[in-house]
Amino acid sequence: MEHKVFIGLGSNLENPRAQVLQAIHELNILSQVRVVQCSALYRSAPVGYLDQPDFINAVAELSTTLAPRALLDALLALEHRCGRKREFLNSPRTLDLDVLLYDDLQHHEHGLTVPHPQMHLRAFVLQPLLEIAPNCEIPGIGNVAEMAAKCAGQDLERLGNGAK
Ligand code: ADP
Ligand code: MG
Repeated sequence: MEHKVFIGLGSNLENPRAQVLQAIHELNILSQVRVVQCSALYRSAPVGYLDQPDFINAVAELSTTLAPRALLDALLALEHRCGRKREFLNSPRTLDLDVLLYDDLQHHEHGLTVPHPQMHLRAFVLQPLLEIAPNCEIPGIGNVAEMAAKCAGQDLERLGNGAK
């Protein structure tokens, strides 16, 4: 069975734009995963720990037969292959891949919460998501367009069609 999934991509080290574009390419060649569409690239200011470079972000829609946990494991393995080191919370990273939405699933287990618990608070997730899924709902939270309007003050810049 094919599942409709949205994932968030982010990078702020070692040529972030290339990291994100490469990750989209690598996602598409994972077995049981197909990239259906991808947002433009966005630049965002860091949150939490501020003394680090700006991020490049994008959101991709996937079609996958992988179960949520198997998909997350595949994404974490891809982060690892791209040289990610977790140093501290909100630290700079070569590649961050988050499962945002998985069908209309609401699920919580150790190491996996869907929808992603912070997605409705982050313009760098909501704006690219809105671009590729304008009528999208976040289960248990509400409409993406409404959430995005509340985050309008955050520092975010659309960079164009880099990932398309
Ligand atoms: P963040 O993305 O918040 O900056 P990390 O990428 O370091 O932080 O994620 C830390 C852990 O978050 C991962 O090891 C993963 O197990 C867990 N996690 C929980 N829910 C999700 C999700 N929906 N997508 C991605 N990771 C998740
Ligand atoms: Mg993450």
